[in-house]
Amino acid sequence: MVKLKIAVVHNKTEHTLQITAELLEKLVAAGHTIDQRNPELVISVGGDGTLLSAFHLYSHKLDQVRFIGVHTGHLGFYTDWRDYELDDLIELLSTRKDESVSYPLLDVRITYRNGKPTKHFLSLNESIVKRTDSTMVADIYIRDELFERFRGDGLSVSTPTGSTAYNKSIGGAVLHPRINAIQLAEIASLNNRVFRTLGSPMVIASHEWIELRMQDSAECLVTVDQFQLQQEEIKSIFYRIAEEKIQFASYRHTHFWRRVRDAFIGEIEE
Ligand code: NAP
Ligand code: MN
Repeated sequence: MVKLKIAVVHNKTEHTLQITAELLEKLVAAGHTIDQRNPELVISVGGDGTLLSAFHLYSHKLDQVRFIGVHTGHLGFYTDWRDYELDDLIELLSTRKDESVSYPLLDVRITYRNGKPTKHFLSLNESIVKRTDSTMVADIYIRDELFERFRGDGLSVSTPTGSTAYNKSIGGAVLHPRINAIQLAEIASLNNRVFRTLGSPMVIASHEWIELRMQDSAECLVTVDQFQLQQEEIKSIFYRIAEEKIQFASYRHTHFWRRVRDAFIGEIEE
């Protein structure tokens, strides 16, 4: 029997708390150890947002940790298991050798105007930079070459697994998570006879990088997944595919496009 060191991360809804208690009890009964500090496996209980939180809690140990998501609501994108399937899940954890799939992450580096040290983040979904009070002006460089001068509300850079989140809401493409790429999408770009942007989302290859050089000194709002960074005067943001990857324990396979259909389309009458 496989014995694992397991951490559990959950949200605070009443239903989740109940499922979490049940899960912990069953894991211990199956001989696994609950280890919140040095787990081999992190189980998130809640929604996709809960898995994002779990990722950020353990993002410094990505080479040692695999993730698995239990959804207490509808099925999510990072959450393969439903709350009524705990017994099946534990059975597989205890009997199967660990198989995992890994997906790309976004590497974010922010440099500031005031000479503050560069900040570095890993993102599982996306990073958004935007201005709410005035037009954001940023020069977009791809591989150190100026591509366009963007004017508009902002820009989003997303991972393949993040492509179904915020990226999709602003007209970005849904990418299969096996594609090792990142996507740049516009938020309300200004396009007229004077100002010109490409106007469509762009998918950047793995050997490329994107740099946004802010063209004025107004403060910008930057997000990394569910986090909002403090607004500051940003000089530039550098985006590329991270060297690190996130590993998901894959005890069973959910066909990606079926998941997309279930989440966004629903039943089709033939
Ligand atoms: P939230 O406000 O609960 O998230 C908004 C919705 O996005 C929730 O239904 C969430 O699922 C879902 N979601 C998260 N990651 C997803 C993914 N990779 N693919 C498809 N759906 C996904 O906030 P949150 O739970 O902390 O998640 C933060 C993420 O929400 C951000 O990274 C951003 O992508 C997304 N978001 C989107 C919009 C928008 O589309 N306008 C606005 C705000 C935030 P669960 O209910 O299962 O958590
Ligand atoms: Mn959520």
